[in-house]
Amino acid sequence: MNISGLAKSYDGNTWAVEGLDLRIEPGEFVTILGPSGSGKTTALMMLAGFESPTRGEIELNGEPVAALPAYRRNIGMVFQSYALFPTMSVADNIAYPLKMRKVPRADRERLVNASLELVQLQAHRDKRPHQLSGGQQQRVALARATVFTPGLLLMDEPLGALDRKLRQTMQNEIASIHRTLGVTVVSVTHDQEEALSLSDRILIMADGKMQQLGTPAEIFERPRNAFVADFMGEANVIDVVAGRLAAGSVHVEGGTEGEYAAIRLADQVSVRPELVMLEAASDHDADAGVVTACTYQGSVVRYEVRLQSGASLVARASTGSEQQRFERGASVSVTVRAHSIVP
Ligand code: ADP
Ligand code: MG
Repeated sequence: MNISGLAKSYDGNTWAVEGLDLRIEPGEFVTILGPSGSGKTTALMMLAGFESPTRGEIELNGEPVAALPAYRRNIGMVFQSYALFPTMSVADNIAYPLKMRKVPRADRERLVNASLELVQLQAHRDKRPHQLSGGQQQRVALARATVFTPGLLLMDEPLGALDRKLRQTMQNEIASIHRTLGVTVVSVTHDQEEALSLSDRILIMADGKMQQLGTPAEIFERPRNAFVADFMGEANVIDVVAGRLAAGSVHVEGGTEGEYAAIRLADQVSVRPELVMLEAASDHDADAGVVTACTYQGSVVRYEVRLQSGASLVARASTGSEQQRFERGASVSVTVRAHSIVP
């Protein structure tokens, strides 16, 4: 699928989506990730053909999507609210897209059974949606969107309505369905963890604009700007003034000449809290910072440290390791490895 210059304005004044460019490979799992109102649903609706682009092109298998009638687009869609038919049984819900495509009854039976097996709902085939849990309804929606072997599966916040524990389980199920069917997926979410764990590539959006496109590791470890760094987790964004970190009192360790050059050229850099290292400061350490807050978060402890410059940094230390714990008020020296500093 090839997306070029895709843009949408609802009011002719502001852009809900502005200039998406992206090539999606067959079988790829791409997640559009961004805060609420960033244009994710609008982008997905254009891919589905439910909204017409104000500008730009979408090509599916080399053909412009706009030229294809809905049934020939062969796209499966999972909505956040599931949109199941309440009066139909589970099996009939799943069979619906096959009926629409005039698939003969015998084939329908076979495909629905295979689909029920894929989402492990064989025992629930005759129930109505309201008799199912949220996770089970979600599985019906997934089965209905994939039973006709779509070339493309679109999902809008597929796990948004589920609680945390169930989201984890359903993430595994979606990954397994994707592997089994080999279908191309474009999914929309505002959940960083979901995007990181499921995607081959992530497209980050803010204010209708593409911020970064890359693999989960690229997005997380090499955020291209302060927005991405901050959105992907709490980031320390540090101004660079006259080629030096304005936060001061941070010991920068190791690193190549190239890494230092990149830092000097940047206006701002970011450092992940888990890469900020704290040590007890010696009595005469003029650069020492002070721990102003420490929060036990289970697997990690989160520290806020005020530096001599008045700037604050966040550090996160794993509780499983042998690392020293600090109390509020503790005097600490702060070290960051040069390669953890993202220009
Ligand atoms: P997201 O899914 O990331 O929350 P949306 O695509 O729903 O973002 O919305 C992006 C922007 O477009 C928002 O400012 C929203 O108010 C606006 N918008 C979305 N749908 C419509 C619509 N049908 N008519 C007018 N404006 C809309
Ligand atoms: Mg949305």
